[in-house]
Amino acid sequence: MDYEPIRKGDVSGFRVAPNLSDYQKAIDRFQWEDIHSDLDWLDNGKLNIAYEALDRHVNSPVRDKVALYWEGKGGEEEKYTFGDLSRLTNRFANVLTGLGVTKGDRVFTYMDRIPEAFVSLLGALKVGGVIGPLFSAFGPEAVRDRLGDCEGKILVTTPKLVNTIHEILDDLPALESIIIVERGEAGYELKNKEVSYERLMGGASEEFELVATDREDYAIIHYTSGTTGKPKGVVHVHEAIVGHYATAKYVLDLHPDDIYWCTADPGWVTGTSYGIFGPWSNGITQVVYEGGFGASRWYKVIEKYKVSVWYTAPTAIRMLMKAGDEVPKKHDLSSLRYLCSVGEPLNPEAVLWGEKVFGMPFHDNWWQTETGCIKIANYPIQDIRPGSMGRPFMGVTPGILDDNYEKELPPGEEGHLALRAGWPSMFRAYWNKPELYESRFKGGWYITGDKAIKDEDGYFWFVGRADDVINTGGHLVGPFEVESVLVEHPAVAEAGVIGVPDPIAMEVIMAFVSLKDGYEESEELMRDIKKFTRKKLHSVACPRKMKFLPGLPKTKSGKIMRRLLKARELGLPEGDVSTLEE
Ligand code: ATP
Ligand code: MG
Repeated sequence: MDYEPIRKGDVSGFRVAPNLSDYQKAIDRFQWEDIHSDLDWLDNGKLNIAYEALDRHVNSPVRDKVALYWEGKGGEEEKYTFGDLSRLTNRFANVLTGLGVTKGDRVFTYMDRIPEAFVSLLGALKVGGVIGPLFSAFGPEAVRDRLGDCEGKILVTTPKLVNTIHEILDDLPALESIIIVERGEAGYELKNKEVSYERLMGGASEEFELVATDREDYAIIHYTSGTTGKPKGVVHVHEAIVGHYATAKYVLDLHPDDIYWCTADPGWVTGTSYGIFGPWSNGITQVVYEGGFGASRWYKVIEKYKVSVWYTAPTAIRMLMKAGDEVPKKHDLSSLRYLCSVGEPLNPEAVLWGEKVFGMPFHDNWWQTETGCIKIANYPIQDIRPGSMGRPFMGVTPGILDDNYEKELPPGEEGHLALRAGWPSMFRAYWNKPELYESRFKGGWYITGDKAIKDEDGYFWFVGRADDVINTGGHLVGPFEVESVLVEHPAVAEAGVIGVPDPIAMEVIMAFVSLKDGYEESEELMRDIKKFTRKKLHSVACPRKMKFLPGLPKTKSGKIMRRLLKARELGLPEGDVSTLEE
């Protein structure tokens, strides 16, 4: 907490006036209903996410605006206007209707970030389907667990991926049809239950009467990242669009002329809430890049498409930092005006690196699959306290609770981060797990499972996941604090910190460290890193044990899996590793 705040100064110095110009005023006056009139709604108070994201723009000049610039792995380029996507999703809705899909049926996508993935997800929402987007990097078991759990009826995938899951299809009796997107790879021979996307789309009408869903109808099922254990099927309803829209506007600060890039895959909630619904309900042009991470590649995307607002994640930022400060200098990144990050705690070092390299800080924000949209954030107008997640979004009341979840703790005390229940994009269920769902609510609070501190000015500071907080010699230490100091060391690219059992101190702190390019592992370097932590941390928080690793185990959404570091270190069972990024 000992970093100087980053001052934002007067709004008049901004390239565009922020959508949120007075935080306090907005907080004091805000009601979720205020957002309702920004959306179009259907007759009789019905609401459909796909309608708000696409169809409503068809009656305005936004129709002919580019919604999606798509760049494929191999450099292919495509672009789609809002009007194009509205028509394509109508066709797909007709395809699904032809296959017998009706309201409430689960429709899964399992493919790379190709335009058909977006068409399928939004088309499925138009028939009232419940969409389940899956990472294309999932293995067969991960697909089986998820489709099996909520009885997926339709799977949209590609020839390559369906080949990898043929062996599990017999285990999925509820699966009625598999739609194969060939995308130019003609010659695939359709098998049992399989139909061709291209063929069916070719014969489908562009007219479709959207199913009038209720705001409480199920719309999305996202399985969580699996960082702390077996992923849970988090269910969201159509009303979630109110939250997606509002936060994309006021936190991501999207403006009509922006070119926006969210680097998340739709297999993770960030890739739908802010890679589809948030930007498109605001009528914003976005870039989707199918390829994977690469510092130069990513900078090229920003340069080529003139990205102005960029939403990414701490792991990616740390990898960009690892690649060095010279790489961005080779690109014209002057289009950028606003940077945001989510998914893990953002080390202060990374916030400041944004300032150094792009001339602007990264704005951290916090939320979860369960919350559906951003809950705590740093805003364009507000000073940033590096290392803090920021302040609550309008209409959101977070609290820090004691260990019994009964009492709210005063500023400065560490406790359980909870949210007053009741916001539009709040999850409505864990699929098939009603008790687990109930157990997350106590006395009108939703218990997030994270620990945090609130300061005197209402800024929230992440401590760690409740499961990851370390008890050493009677002191509680959050891994984030230790990891943040470790990554400040010039040689350290990434750090994961756990507690390992100790006969005297109960637990001692152990750090796993991966090095930046150009550094060699050595005893001496390890000693130097330990010494460095002693200068910056209280002695109880300093790692006693340390190991170098070439990289840390992470989920496909890019989160460090501390439970796996621990299981491997202690020789314990690894538990669910379906989301592990190999
Ligand atoms: P699982 O629930 O299966 O263990 P997960 O919690 O990682 O997985 P997500 O919903 O993708 O699944 O992630 C939400 C969690 O990510 C938060 O509860 C928090 O621990 C972490 N997180 C997200 N954003 C931030 C942030 N800005 N700062 C700190 N932690 C964050
Ligand atoms: Mg979680």
